[in-house]
Amino acid sequence: MGIHCLFNNLKGSVDKWLVKLSLKKNRNRLTCKEFSEMVHYFIDNELSTRERLLFQKQLEKCTACKEQFQVEQEIVNLIRSNVKKKEVPIALEEEIRQKVKIYELLQ
Ligand SMILES: [Zn+2]
Repeated sequence: MGIHCLFNNLKGSVDKWLVKLSLKKNRNRLTCKEFSEMVHYFIDNELSTRERLLFQKQLEKCTACKEQFQVEQEIVNLIRSNVKKKEVPIALEEEIRQKVKIYELLQ
């Protein structure tokens, strides 16, 4: 597993709950703050269908969000093309997994 991938998994586990907690049902529009919290998940294709639709709607409606999305995507592309080959030591990966598991149990 590459370091960027591992970082994403870790960040994903922690942040996703926060986003989903704030994303209440029956909403048909994201705030700019929610949009900015979801950008990475959109890029990594980790949103649900509903979240994805809300995200795309906001992307069309808000220029600031659209600009942020383009910048984030460029950064992610840059990271991906540069860190792809670096591997995380197995022991570190295992330690992080354990911590994520504990964090998940606490939710
Ligand atoms: Zn916006």
